[in-house]
This record gives sequence, C-alpha cells and structure tokens, in this order.
Amino acid sequence: MSNEASYLFYQSRNPRPFLDRGEGIYLFDENGKRYIDGSSGAMVSNIGHSNPRVLAKIKAQMDRATFGYRLHFRTHPSEDLAAKTVSLMPAGLDRVFFVSGGSEAVESAVKLARQYALTQGQPQRYKVISRFPSYHGCTFGALDLTGYDPLREPFAPMLAGMPKVPAPATYLDRDNLTEEARGLKYAELLRDQIVQEGPENVLAFVMEPVGGASTGALVAPDSYYGRVREICDEFGVLLIYDEVMTGAGRTGKFLAAEHWGITPDIVAMSKGFGAGYAPLGAIVAGKRLVEPVLDAGGFQHGFTYAGNPLACAAGLAVLEEMEEQGLVENAARMGKVLMAELESLMERYPFIGDVRGKGLLTAFEFVSDRNTMAPLPVGLDAHTRLVELAYARGLIIYSRRTRGGTSGDHFLVAPPLIITEPQIRDMMAILRDAIEAFAQEAGLPVLE
Ligand code: PMP
Repeated sequence: MSNEASYLFYQSRNPRPFLDRGEGIYLFDENGKRYIDGSSGAMVSNIGHSNPRVLAKIKAQMDRATFGYRLHFRTHPSEDLAAKTVSLMPAGLDRVFFVSGGSEAVESAVKLARQYALTQGQPQRYKVISRFPSYHGCTFGALDLTGYDPLREPFAPMLAGMPKVPAPATYLDRDNLTEEARGLKYAELLRDQIVQEGPENVLAFVMEPVGGASTGALVAPDSYYGRVREICDEFGVLLIYDEVMTGAGRTGKFLAAEHWGITPDIVAMSKGFGAGYAPLGAIVAGKRLVEPVLDAGGFQHGFTYAGNPLACAAGLAVLEEMEEQGLVENAARMGKVLMAELESLMERYPFIGDVRGKGLLTAFEFVSDRNTMAPLPVGLDAHTRLVELAYARGLIIYSRRTRGGTSGDHFLVAPPLIITEPQIRDMMAILRDAIEAFAQEAGLPVLE
C-alpha cells in the first residue's frame, strides 16, 4: 500500500469520516458518533436507513437472481414495480421506463418527447426550455437544461445552449403584485419565450415543481402551475415534470404535481424512488406518447442496468413500505411541524430572510437585509460554515450558494419521511445551536 490517504475523488477531496451504519433517521460514523440525516443524504433516503423489511425483500431477490438483461427476460420485480408506480400516478400516466438515476431520467424524458414529436410529423421540434436557476442533472443533455452556472461554465462550449426562463423566485420580487399575479407573470415569461423561439420549434418545457438543490425548495404561487399547463397545451409543447427530488412522497403527495392537480406529459423520478436501497429512477408517460414511438420502431435509448431485477425489487419494497407506514401522509403532517419550527427561527435571527417549502422539502435562506434580500457577504462562506457547525453537532443539512437568479446561501432541511415530531424537535435544537454559533462567529446580530 502507498501512503496516499485516498485514491478516490469526487467533486473535491473528501475529508469526511467513514460511515459505519444507518438506522432510521440516523447515520453513525466509525467512531460511533451519531448524526441526524436531516437532508436524507441528497434528498434520497425517504424511508430512512436500513429498514429490515426492505432489506429482507432485497435479499430474497438476491438469492434468486441479481441480474437478468431485459432483452433476454422479463422479470417480476420490474413488471410489478411498473404496475405499482402506475397505480400511484395521476390518470393517464401509464407507461414506465426504468433508469438508474436522475440525470438518466431527465435525458430519457427529453428523448422520449423528441421521438414522439417525430412520430407526429414534427421533426422541427427540438428546443427544450427550462428554468434558471434549476437542477436537472450533470450528464451533457441534462446539464444543458440545468440552470446553475458553476456546473455549466467548464462545459459551456460543448452545450447546445437550450433556452431558459426565470424560475418564479417571487420571494425576491419587490413589486406590488399579488402572489397570484406574480405566478401568472412568471408563466407568461414562458409563453413569451415559446413565441420567441418559434412555437413550432419547441419540443418541451422542463421544470421542478418544487425547486431543489439550485433554488432551495422554491415553491411557485399556485396560479403558476395551471397557467404553465395551459401555455404548453396552447402550443403543443410537452410538459415534463422533473420530480427526481420531489417525487415518491417528499412533498406530502406522491407527486408534487398533485398539489396543483396537474398531469404532466412525462414525469422523471429517482432519489426517493429507490430511497438509497438501489440506484433507481423512472420516467412515466402516457401510452398516448409511448405507443406511437413503439409502433414507429421503438425508443432508441436505454441503459444496461435499466429495469434490473435487484434495483426493481428494492424499489417495489420501498413503495410498499411507504404505503404500509403511510409515509406520504406523515410527510405532509411533519412538514407542517417542521415549517412552523423553521419560521420561528426568524424571530431570533434577522439574517434568515425566507423560509419555504412543501411537505418535508423545506429550506431557509440567509440574507444581510430582509428588505432588499441582499445576500450575506461571500467572505462569510455561510453555506459551508453552517453545514460544518451542524455536522460537528451531529446534524446533516444540505446547502448551496447560488450565483445569479436567487440571492444567497440557502439550506435544505429534508429529513426521511419516517421522522416523528419529537425527532423534529431534537433536530431543530441542534440546528438552532448551530445557527447561534454561526451568528457569533460571523458577528451577526440576534434578537432577544
Ligand atoms: N433532477 C433533479 C431535480 C435533481 O435534484 C437531481 C439531483 N440532485 C437530478 C435531476 C440528477 O439526479 P442524479 O444526480 O441522480 O443524476
């Protein structure tokens, strides 16, 4: 062995301790230190860690077959998971295509949309509009839809440069409009963009119904969602909901789309769908889109691990567990408790400028001035510092500082959907302590 500390790299070198084990909402490192997983990893571990019933079902599948290539066999886990998934979807979304992650799901959704347009005699439709800021993945196709400059910049010349419209960050707006009017204003920006691109060229609009990593749980005014659906219908533009983060119960409904009664044309899911028990994702579309593509020679797309029985057995076990424990309902209930707790932080910490979210996808954002919503100085490095102070105290949260589009440092609090009210109080006690420590080290005022 060499003396190198690690041969492995991710985005950067990794100074974290070794993970030993997980149990429910907790993770333990090799030194026995306990952490509350307040972000479910990266909004993944929706049913908590090491659920014994799920593990037993995965093990049972392992003992039968870990892999069977989909061109050689159908498998019960993949068929059963597809059927279960369709049963949880709004009417009309009844065809499922499996993938292994979120970027793959987004790419697959766009490619299905494109092939559908070809079957409709519309080869000129290729532009995919997305929002800024947004996160849709980091493979080239998904990255081009992602509105987040630090990830795009190194690859900018290699991206097609698909059009973007502003995400509805109404909490930053200082106009005199009502929330309803603001929602409509942002929807009209999409309409303007479609007209500018030439509606006959626009294939699809992709959006996160509740923003994730790039915007920090951004929820649009209610009026936005229905109007966007209408605009897409007006021009024959397919509406793709990226529910990679919001799907599988995270926001208190199985799909976030249900909050507004929207049926997208294609839904992309991952993260909580496999809930960390397997790399798994899916797109779901209606047979209206899928059948013409299959009739025209098939979907020219697919990944080796798509629909593998082990991942699908895990996914099925996860969905069954969610149903048996009523976790979607628990996410709705606990989301209200968590949101009230986060809002109460604003009484003491004037540098918290906004608290937002839906269900158990919540966030708070730091500002230097609530009136202008100007961000904290970059030099305070708030998005890293608070995460470190919380980590040291045994709480994991997820943060970003976005450049452009939204203001500053935001923090996602998104615990597993199994969390209880006492556990939320424990988590908040640690978070409060960490914020207090941050205020002190940054020299920020607190209110008594
Ligand atoms: N879409 C959304 C909304 C996401 O949050 C993510 C991951 N953060 C992705 C796509 C990409 O998923 P993955 O990292 O699994 O490729």
